[in-house]
Amino acid sequence: MTYRTLVKGGIIYSLDPDIGELPRGDVLIEDGKIAAVAGSIEASDARVLDAAGRIVLPGLIDTHRHLWQAALRQIAADWTLTQYIDQMLLGYGPRFSAEDVYAAELLGAIEAIDAGVTTVMDWAHIMYSPDHADEAVRGLRDAGVRAVFGYGSPGGPPAEWYADDVTRVAGRHFSSDDGLLTLALASMGPEFGALDDALADLELARRLGVRTSIHVGVGLLGQRRSITELHRRGLLGPDLIFVHCNMCTDAELRLIAETGGHASISPRVEMQMGHGYPATGRLRAAGVQPSLSIDVVSGVGGSVFAEMRGTLEAERGIAHHTALSRGEVVQELGITTKDVVRMATIEGARTLGLDDRIGSITPGKQADIILLDVDRPNLSPLNNLSAAITLADNENVDTVLIGGRIVKQGGRILEHDLGAVQRGAVASRDRLLSAAAKAEVAS
Ligand SMILES: [Zn+2]
Repeated sequence: MTYRTLVKGGIIYSLDPDIGELPRGDVLIEDGKIAAVAGSIEASDARVLDAAGRIVLPGLIDTHRHLWQAALRQIAADWTLTQYIDQMLLGYGPRFSAEDVYAAELLGAIEAIDAGVTTVMDWAHIMYSPDHADEAVRGLRDAGVRAVFGYGSPGGPPAEWYADDVTRVAGRHFSSDDGLLTLALASMGPEFGALDDALADLELARRLGVRTSIHVGVGLLGQRRSITELHRRGLLGPDLIFVHCNMCTDAELRLIAETGGHASISPRVEMQMGHGYPATGRLRAAGVQPSLSIDVVSGVGGSVFAEMRGTLEAERGIAHHTALSRGEVVQELGITTKDVVRMATIEGARTLGLDDRIGSITPGKQADIILLDVDRPNLSPLNNLSAAITLADNENVDTVLIGGRIVKQGGRILEHDLGAVQRGAVASRDRLLSAAAKAEVAS
């Protein structure tokens, strides 16, 4: 039996060039996919979702987020990159049990859904054992989010079981490519690891047919010229996602464009921690349309709305500063609210290689759709759709559908006992902090 849902009477912001924006329109969903979008659709047998006073847009997409840090939220809010590496990656990281990873993945993925993020690339460089990987995947699956699970070694020389385990996880959890969860490799790359390990990672990912995500151009490590190194070996390609890119040269950014590669930027974390100035404008000038990412959920919150605003502010701020320092003024802003909404949706889908199934409200794509309540004090009266989307917050995320399944409605998360999820995260947090305190006393 065909299962139909009709999203009725909303303000459609489709991100599909043929559909555009509809001041009032309907979206018909059949068996989890978008079947039709029009001003008015008759579907008497469909369940109706009233979208009056709601902006209807594709679910937001985050292309790099370390979900495993969700139970340690706020801890890194005043840290530099050096403090983050010392305390989070080298301090707390090794104390994570598989149980801690599960608790954080579940909480972090629900946080994403609550904030209108229907797809997240989970950059999971916390794989201290095969059990850690299984529990991370279980957390994502239980949360019900669409996710790209980025299998990652925690840094240092990879464990001897690591490559075999990536292959095991690919076969065990990702044998079909059409589910909510897909696989990628979260590689330390040539900046955070040894070059030979980075090359082995690329070979492994290409053998498995999955994308590889690498942090590049990060602070002083960014002077290692990872992209140039990979280019010299003929290894760049459309299956690579370059995270941050702050200290990459313009020539390196052009190499990403020429080889069909992708970029994921996290301007708020980059400005806080000292990765270098956000590369947003330089990437766009080089021909790379970046996607957005939250990165360190233990430092900044999980709101992609906030990331859109941070991206705009950083890029506009530097343009004004550069002009004023020359005694000139900017006549027209080079980056708009429309641009960042694209980065948070369709460009995210392209980065992850999922643009055939998500990223816009297009017939045939998965029904990953969110309804923003704009009839609230922070957004009413509505005068500009893309501006309202960037100025929204979680309070405006009224309804979230993933593959046509309603996972948030009327501002409330469905399918989960939030109290139990939070208790699990608190217990994990307490274990991690007391283990850290004990280590402190012992040293
Ligand atoms: Zn990161």
